Amino acid sequence: MPAISSKKPYRVGRSSTGLGLFATKPIKKGTKIVRYFGPLLDCKKKKDDAVENKYLFELNNRWTIDGSVRENIARYINHACKPNAESDVRPRKRKVFIRAIKNIEPGEEINYDYGTDYFKAYLKPIGCKCAACEKKRKKKRAEARAERLRLKAKAERKALRKAEKLAAKAGKQHGLNGAKANGVKLNGKHLNGHGGKSAGKIIAVKSGISVRPKSRESRASA
Ligand SMILES: [Zn+2]
Repeated sequence: MPAISSKKPYRVGRSSTGLGLFATKPIKKGTKIVRYFGPLLDCKKKKDDAVENKYLFELNNRWTIDGSVRENIARYINHACKPNAESDVRPRKRKVFIRAIKNIEPGEEINYDYGTDYFKAYLKPIGCKCAACEKKRKKKRAEARAERLRLKAKAERKALRKAEKLAAKAGKQHGLNGAKANGVKLNGKHLNGHGGKSAGKIIAVKSGISVRPKSRESRASA
């Protein structure tokens, strides 16, 4: 890790994507944090135009800063889609400064938006690992998980309803059988009730009861 003066409000440290630049002191919004610097490449020169690395910072269609040099601490600053800093480009002065666009607290990683071209070329193919994109991915994963759970619960409810329906159907059949059996009994009673013989029997018993006391009475009185 490069040695950085303790007077500076930042240090190089481990980040989610490798190394990154972190605030060590509060950095106020609008403050120039660090200069992005390196040899100037002139695209009109064949040798300069042939230089290829991830740290090229295009100032305009002629000049590009080759930021791959060790002394360029700004090259440690990672890209973020919702950054707390920006690149302040001064093409005429051929200078770039990284400036805070928010108040940055100690411990916070400093980042700026690398721009659409870089994003398309380097980040989109591997998936941007910035906090905002991670948060978006996490939210999507949570939503997908919730959707899976919802579908599972729905399937379970459906299965339960089906089982209940089957049980109800089975119960109905059982009930019908019972009713039939009862019906037979009832019919039997009915038959007995309506049947002259049994009706007669019952009446006979009743009449018998009603008759006996009288006979007792008559016996007692007799
Ligand atoms: Zn991102």
